Amino acid sequence: MFDYSITENCLSNKTILVTGAGAGIGREAALTYAKLGATIILLGKTVSKLEALYDEIIALKLAEPAIVPLDLKGATKQNYIDMSATIVSQFGKLDGVLLNASMLGELTPFTQIHEQIFNDVMQVNVTAQYLLAQALIPTLQLADKASLVFTSSGVGNQGRAFWGAYSISKFATEGMMQVIADEYENSNLRVNAINPGATKTNMRASAYPAEDKEALATPADIMPLYVYLMTNDSLAVNGKTLKAQ
Ligand code: NAP
Repeated sequence: MFDYSITENCLSNKTILVTGAGAGIGREAALTYAKLGATIILLGKTVSKLEALYDEIIALKLAEPAIVPLDLKGATKQNYIDMSATIVSQFGKLDGVLLNASMLGELTPFTQIHEQIFNDVMQVNVTAQYLLAQALIPTLQLADKASLVFTSSGVGNQGRAFWGAYSISKFATEGMMQVIADEYENSNLRVNAINPGATKTNMRASAYPAEDKEALATPADIMPLYVYLMTNDSLAVNGKTLKAQ
């Protein structure tokens, strides 16, 4: 695992938006950030999952989170601009954004990729990330120090047979991260990506249905890197893809 010792309350006074906060790695990251003192904005597709996490955070007597129900497949540029304006009016700034939500599509030979699935994967994993980042960067610039974190994959810088649209979308994600990181070098904003590695979630189960799930890292196991990139300990890190495992 990425070697980082998490200290109590290391995220206090920070407001952090997490996409895909209802399940898997995003849910764990949102809960972990809340336990470390941050106020969390939970963005996701399935409202009931976001509400369940909201209830869990309130039951733990942590800072009250906000819920943003948004389907990245259908959301428009205006939706993201409106969301950013609401965040500024409610919270004043954003200290961190974890762009975690994505879809796998289907694993299939390249010649058999369905155009609709290719377009959906690109919409959710690339276009929505670009629109989110574009709308949220001005809000991140209102913070003293801010961190924008993209989510890549092992197939995000080395292509692999049958990983088609998903792999292509993660290459684009890493490219987007590097472009923005270069533009904002020497600013208050640092921009990086995480490669979580094989992690026990629904997405992993749909990619590898037959594997032994007990051998996999859990979302909780990989949190050190997710926390590190949101703390001031990572202020000097920019333009990097870091492995959580
Ligand atoms: P997951 O368990 O499938 O969770 C994905 C999350 O994204 C869910 O909360 C889901 O919401 C949300 N989401 C999906 N489509 C969305 C949409 N159209 N609009 C809004 N939210 C949407 O996946 P995960 O394994 O935690 O993956 C998290 C990130 O890590 C992804 O970027 C993935 O590519 C990356 N990753 C994972 C692994 C791994 O082994 N797990 C390895 C490498 C990279 P709903 O639950 O409401 O559908």
